[in-house]
Amino acid sequence: MTSRTKAKAEDEAPQASSEAQPAEAEQPPLCGKPHFLPALVHITCQEPAPDPDLPPGTPEHEHRHQDGDALYVWQ
Ligand SMILES: [Zn+2]
Repeated sequence: MTSRTKAKAEDEAPQASSEAQPAEAEQPPLCGKPHFLPALVHITCQEPAPDPDLPPGTPEHEHRHQDGDALYVWQ
Protein backbone atom coordinates (compact mmCIF):
# COMPACT_ATOMS: atom_id res chain seq x y z
CA MET A 1 0.00 0.00 0.00
CA THR A 2 1.51 3.19 -1.09
CA SER A 3 -0.21 6.33 -0.15
CA ARG A 4 1.96 9.30 -0.39
CA THR A 5 0.82 12.68 0.40
CA LYS A 6 2.63 15.45 -1.21
CA ALA A 7 4.74 16.89 1.46
CA LYS A 8 4.85 20.18 -0.27
CA ALA A 9 1.81 21.58 -1.77
CA GLU A 10 3.19 23.03 -4.87
CA ASP A 11 3.94 26.59 -4.20
CA GLU A 12 0.56 27.81 -3.38
CA ALA A 13 -0.38 29.77 -6.33
CA PRO A 14 -1.53 33.13 -5.18
CA GLN A 15 -5.15 33.50 -5.84
CA ALA A 16 -5.35 34.52 -9.37
CA SER A 17 -6.71 37.95 -9.11
CA SER A 18 -9.83 37.81 -11.08
CA GLU A 19 -9.43 41.37 -12.06
CA ALA A 20 -8.38 40.54 -15.52
CA GLN A 21 -10.54 43.14 -17.01
CA PRO A 22 -11.57 42.58 -20.52
CA ALA A 23 -10.43 45.35 -22.72
CA GLU A 24 -13.11 47.92 -22.57
CA ALA A 25 -15.74 47.50 -25.11
CA GLU A 26 -14.07 48.53 -28.25
CA GLN A 27 -14.05 52.22 -28.25
CA PRO A 28 -14.62 53.84 -31.54
CA PRO A 29 -11.71 55.97 -32.63
CA LEU A 30 -12.05 59.61 -31.88
CA CYS A 31 -12.59 62.14 -34.57
CA GLY A 32 -9.63 64.21 -33.44
CA LYS A 33 -10.25 67.04 -35.81
CA PRO A 34 -8.45 70.15 -34.62
CA HIS A 35 -10.36 73.32 -33.99
CA PHE A 36 -10.52 75.55 -37.00
CA LEU A 37 -9.05 78.50 -35.15
CA PRO A 38 -5.26 78.48 -35.42
CA ALA A 39 -5.05 79.51 -31.79
CA LEU A 40 -7.05 76.48 -30.78
CA VAL A 41 -5.58 73.76 -32.94
CA HIS A 42 -4.60 71.93 -29.77
CA ILE A 43 -8.31 71.50 -29.18
CA THR A 44 -9.33 68.34 -30.93
CA CYS A 45 -12.71 66.80 -31.38
CA GLN A 46 -13.61 64.22 -28.77
CA GLU A 47 -16.55 62.86 -30.64
CA PRO A 48 -16.32 59.41 -32.10
CA ALA A 49 -14.94 59.44 -35.59
CA PRO A 50 -17.62 59.46 -38.20
CA ASP A 51 -18.52 56.15 -39.68
CA PRO A 52 -16.33 55.63 -42.73
CA ASP A 53 -19.18 53.85 -44.38
CA LEU A 54 -21.26 56.97 -44.53
CA PRO A 55 -22.00 57.97 -48.05
CA PRO A 56 -20.04 60.90 -49.42
CA GLY A 57 -21.76 64.17 -48.90
CA THR A 58 -22.96 63.26 -45.44
CA PRO A 59 -22.53 66.36 -43.35
CA GLU A 60 -19.89 66.10 -40.68
CA HIS A 61 -20.96 66.01 -37.12
CA GLU A 62 -20.56 69.02 -34.93
CA HIS A 63 -17.08 68.78 -33.51
CA ARG A 64 -16.85 69.09 -29.78
CA HIS A 65 -14.20 69.31 -27.14
CA GLN A 66 -14.93 69.49 -23.45
CA ASP A 67 -12.19 70.99 -21.36
CA GLY A 68 -13.37 71.38 -17.81
CA ASP A 69 -16.01 74.04 -17.90
CA ALA A 70 -15.20 75.05 -21.41
CA LEU A 71 -17.03 73.39 -24.19
CA TYR A 72 -15.83 74.03 -27.69
CA VAL A 73 -18.14 73.30 -30.53
CA TRP A 74 -17.34 73.92 -34.15
CA GLN A 75 -18.36 72.75 -37.52
ZN1 LIG B 1 -15.37 65.69 -34.89
